Formats: sequence, structure tokens, C-alpha cells
Amino acid sequence: ESQNKVQKISILGATGSIGQSTIDVVSRHSGQFKVFALTANRNLELLLAQAKACQPEYVVVADETCYKQAKQLFSQANLHCEVLVGQEGLIQVASATDVDIVMAAIVGAAGLLPTLAAAKSGKKVLLANKESLVMSGDLFIQAANDNNAQLLPIDSEHNAIFQCLPVDYKYGDLASSGISKILLTGSGGPFLNTPLTDLSSVTPEQACAHPNWDMGKKISVDSATMMNKGLEFIEARYLFGLKAQDIEVVLHPQSIIHSMVQYVDGSVIAQMGNPDMRTPIAHALAYPERIESGVKPLDFSTLANFSFSQPESARFPNLDLAIQASKAGQYATTVLNAANEISVQAFLQGQIGFTQIAQVNQECLQQTSSHVLDSIDAVIASDQAARACTQNIIKGFNFQSIKDAS
Ligand code: NAD
Ligand code: MG
Repeated sequence: ESQNKVQKISILGATGSIGQSTIDVVSRHSGQFKVFALTANRNLELLLAQAKACQPEYVVVADETCYKQAKQLFSQANLHCEVLVGQEGLIQVASATDVDIVMAAIVGAAGLLPTLAAAKSGKKVLLANKESLVMSGDLFIQAANDNNAQLLPIDSEHNAIFQCLPVDYKYGDLASSGISKILLTGSGGPFLNTPLTDLSSVTPEQACAHPNWDMGKKISVDSATMMNKGLEFIEARYLFGLKAQDIEVVLHPQSIIHSMVQYVDGSVIAQMGNPDMRTPIAHALAYPERIESGVKPLDFSTLANFSFSQPESARFPNLDLAIQASKAGQYATTVLNAANEISVQAFLQGQIGFTQIAQVNQECLQQTSSHVLDSIDAVIASDQAARACTQNIIKGFNFQSIKDAS
């Protein structure tokens, strides 16, 4: 692929936090990138504003109702892009022949099939949607390899690891590169120092107020429970072919180091920067070149002290659950991911308390017996079953009466 040709990009989840940051970076380099498609779910107002600025050929919206509204809004604004609908529309813009790059930034399992479609179509895939990899792991990596897709991690930790690995790193082969360990860093979220006994009564607003990163609600709650680090542990295993014992989770509350690779000679290579997702986005967009991202450079004269610690199990049971699931296999990571999407949503809607997220997730894992997931259909069936199971578990919890009693 010639570096001089304008690269066409489909941004899946354009109206989200990662989507908006992607548009910001792309619009700084309009001679190099052209937006082919923008996808929203239901935020049509923001989609319209983005479409005015980016002039995409396609937009994708959730359903027929959104379609009718979008058609009207777009024609009033004299915009002539085509409006597509639902999963089919997402898959179409993720795999269209004209597209070079797909930013996979839909949140949750809803991103699985469109992201997989991009991999199967041999695109340069910028992977933000970690949930799709957590669910489909080996199948996804296989599809990417079979179709010469280039997979570039957007998750800041995985992007950091990617940057700290040697350029000739062979998938799964730490030894021949002299690597002894992957150090996956995490901030510990907003409740790192909250008394353990207060955790059961924290609110969704408190859980979503991350000290360093501005993100969507689901990943913000996942950061507060450290399920996010657990999903990232699983993600790292698939992305780089790692064994569970190759990865160590390190707490680093300042979020300046985004992860590290430790070598047998004692060297540790870290990637650093201000906590702003435009850095990994710009890195992946231009890879192997470098482009400006709009992110302020680090100012070491004003940086706070760096500190490091180990995560406590009692505070972050979701992290342990995810690591256990990763060791158990693909069915367990798929079930845990589905259970967690439902329990986080229930927490955000005030149906369960913060500490019950992990309890519900654990209960769902316990109610699921081991089974083989050797196709995407099997993955989706497990995902659906785990969602139903989790809904039932939540019905059995009576959070309101707990709240009333306290
Ligand atoms: P967000 O909630 O801000 O945005 C999600 C996007 O997905 C929105 O455009 C929304 O319209 C779309 N969407 C939601 N449900 C959908 C559905 N059913 N069908 C189609 N589209 C749907 O989330 P975010 O923070 O931008 O995160 C996106 C992904 O990137 C997540 O997988 C997250 O784990 C990952 N990620 C985010 C960050 C971050 O800093 N925000 C960092 C690392 C990884
Ligand atoms: Mg991350």
C-alpha cells in the first residue's frame, strides 16, 4: 500500500469517546485520511455534526426509527451520504472494498461481528473494542492472520506494550526476544483508596468519575472495579500470544506509564505520555510512521511522583475473576464478559450495588459449565445464554431493600 494514497477510514462508534478522539486526530491530517463512514447508535445530533465536518460517504444508525429521523435531519442539512441500519450496515462499512482502515470503537459485544468483518476483509484494524477479542480470541486472531489484516491495539496499555516490544517480536515467543515479563499497568480507578466498607454504597456518578481518563460509562465502571484490567489481561494474552504467568498487573495511579516490557538483562522499557487516547490512536493510524496527535507533551518538571503498588484482591474481586476466567478458557471469558455487561448496566440503572457487580459475575460463572467455543455462532450462543442467566441472578438480588435498610 502506497503511503501517499489517501487512506479511507470507517469509524465504528464515532459518537463515543474513542470515536470523537479519532475524528479529532484524523481531521488534523485531512491530506492523509478521509472518513468513509461514521457509525452512531442513537446519538443522531452528534452524528449530524460529525457528518457535516467529515463528509462521509456512509453513516450507520441503530434501527428503522433512527433511520427515518436521520434521513430527515440529513436532507434538511443538505448532506447526501447514504444512511445504513443496524449490524448489517456496520458490517457493510467495516468490510467495504474502498476502506483501508477500520476504527473498531463500538462498546461491548455489539462490536464483535463488525470488528470481525473488518479482520476478515483484511483491513488495517484499529482495535479499541476489547470485548470482541475477549469473546472471540483465537478465532479473531486466526481470521486476521488468514486474511492479512493488520491488527493495531488502541487500548493504551496494549498500544504501549506493542511500542515496547522489539519490531521483530514473534507472536507468543517471549524467549527468543529475551523478554521476561509484560507489566500491565492500571491506575486503580476512583476507589483505590476508598475504605473497603464504603464500596457497597458508592454511586454510578462516583464510579464514572475517573481520576485520569475521560471515557464512556461502561469502561469507566470497569475501571472502578478493575474488570477493565481483567479484560485487558485477557486481551493482552490474545494480542501477543502470552501465557497467564507472562503478565503482571502493576498499579500506577498517575497513568503516565501506560505499560512496560521487562527483558532478561534487567532492562524495562516503558511507554509514557499524558493520559489522552489521541496518542495511541495517532500511533496506530500512521503506523509505522508518526504523526501529531494534539496531545500535550509530558512536562517532567511538573509531574507528580510516580508510585506503584499491587492490586488488593479484596478491593478488586473482578480482576481475579477475569484472570481465573482467562486460565479456564474461551467459554469462561465470553460468559464473564456478557455477565459483566449486564451487571454494569444494572449498576448504572440503580438495580444493584457496586460490590454486587462482582458477586453477580461470579455467580454467573459458577452457574456455567465448561464447554468448547469453536465457532462464532457458539460464541454468540454462549454470550446470549450468559446474559439471560445474569438477568435471572439480578432478579434474585433485592438491592432496593438493602438500600432501604441502610
Ligand atoms: P462510549 O460509550 O463513549 O462509545 C461507544 C460507541 O459505541 C458510541 O458511538 C455508541 O453509539 C456505540 N454503540 C453503543 N452500543 C452500540 C450498539 N449496540 N450498536 C452499535 N453501536 C453502539 O465508549 P468508549 O469509551 O468510546 O469505548 C469504546 C470501546 O473502546 C470500548 O470497547 C472500550 O473498552 C474501548 N476503550 C475505550 C477507551 C477510552 O478511553 N474511552 C480506552 C481503551 C479502550
Ligand atoms: Mg486500557
